[in-house]
Amino acid sequence: VKIAVIGAGIVGVTTAHELAAQGHQVVVFERHAAVASETSFANAGVMAPGYVTPWAAPGMAWKVFSHLLSPHTPVRFRGGAPFTQLPWLWRWLRASRTKVYHANRSAMCSLAQYSTEVRHALDQRLNLDYELRKGYMVLLRKPSESAKAQATLPWLHEMGVSAKWLDGSQARVLEPGLNDATALHGALHLPQDEVGNCRQYAHLLRAEAHRLGAVFRFHHSVTSVVPGQQPALQWEHGAEGNPTESGGESFDAVVLCAGAQAKALLQPMRVALPLTSVWGYSLTAPLRLEEQYPDLGPRAALMDERYKVAISRIGMRVRVAGSAEMGGAPNHMNAAALRTLYKVLHDWFPAAALPQQAVHWKGARPMLPDGPPVVGATSAAGIWANLGHGSSGWALSCGSARMLADLIAQRPTAVDATAFSPLRFH
Ligand SMILES: Cc1cc2nc3c(=O)[nH]c(=O)nc-3n(C[C@H](O)[C@H](O)[C@H](O)COP(=O)(O)OP(=O)(O)OC[C@H]3O[C@@H](n4cnc5c(N)ncnc54)[C@H](O)[C@@H]3O)c2cc1C
Repeated sequence: VKIAVIGAGIVGVTTAHELAAQGHQVVVFERHAAVASETSFANAGVMAPGYVTPWAAPGMAWKVFSHLLSPHTPVRFRGGAPFTQLPWLWRWLRASRTKVYHANRSAMCSLAQYSTEVRHALDQRLNLDYELRKGYMVLLRKPSESAKAQATLPWLHEMGVSAKWLDGSQARVLEPGLNDATALHGALHLPQDEVGNCRQYAHLLRAEAHRLGAVFRFHHSVTSVVPGQQPALQWEHGAEGNPTESGGESFDAVVLCAGAQAKALLQPMRVALPLTSVWGYSLTAPLRLEEQYPDLGPRAALMDERYKVAISRIGMRVRVAGSAEMGGAPNHMNAAALRTLYKVLHDWFPAAALPQQAVHWKGARPMLPDGPPVVGATSAAGIWANLGHGSSGWALSCGSARMLADLIAQRPTAVDATAFSPLRFH
């Protein structure tokens, strides 16, 4: 079967690889010069199935609005939001009901666990090196945060997630670089969870997909898609806004993996998908190497629960990532969001990094209001979607790619695909 994949972020690359491995003729269209150039470029790299959860959660609305005036609020609205986002926020609020939240959280956790399985099998076969480290620790500053985290332990264990609550001093043994001047009441430790370089993985897997016959057309921007038995697409080649060539082509199926930008292609086909961009930021800096202090930096991945900021060890660098911003200009870096990242880094690992060499980045989480991504056939003939992975696209990518390939081949899926149906928004 001849299949077009639109977008070569982590979701497009894993999808192209799966489809090529299953014997399809795959052509990938990517508007940039390389894979993982947008949201998959510098994310936190965390793959923690027990923490792959919907942002639509009970009590979340109150939490968001009560922190809005704090200088280090995890959520920020800009450029007319939240008013421009009211329909999306209304759906998000409705999906925050306890029963809906639990169903979505379980579905997302199962897909993330499956994703880990698929990725580990690929690792064994392909021997890919993407700076993988084991261990995820959720830092809990206050007794109330600890109590909430401890209450989730039975659910985590029921889902088969290995997790343990540690007091502050036990946590500091596992992460000896943690600053003892910052109060730490406890931590949830998930020893099987992982952190790795998403962008590097995308580059390595692209090479493997290419070896299996997938063709990657870079600098190709898809301008429209026409559904049908033989869906067709139009593309422009060259620098954005200044194309030097254009053309069209038909396929047996088209898979949209265009992340937050998929909406522009879906709207003319009347496919209803409430996809929005929730911006996040990261800073990446080289670790300071001091022979007499080998443990200045993080050993694996951590999450500051109060500020919702992740601190990750990526090779010989430390990456700090977080903030959720709705609205605003894509290229504008919000100084307040970056200040929060530096504050969290300074609180926990004050001497670990070389901040004068830090690189700042902003990316758009492709977010659906209820949580699970959409994986499967859309209402438009011949058009498939693997979209809307929000804050967990790296953790979910290998599993959702395999799920999509199984659905196209009309094979049973390893994880129930119902919760991920693109038709659920109709
Ligand atoms: C600060 C931050 C931290 C994060 N941390 C984590 C984490 O720790 N763990 C985790 O699992 N996830 C994390 N995420 C989320 C994760 O990065 C995303 O879910 C994931 O990268 C989405 O991948 P994608 O392939 O769908 O989108 P993208 O990576 O954005 O890829 C979409 C691609 O489609 C291309 N494209 C779009 N439209 C067209 C078109 N018309 N024609 C041709 N090409 C097109 C784009 O150029 C782009 O390359 C984080 C995100 C942010 C912002």
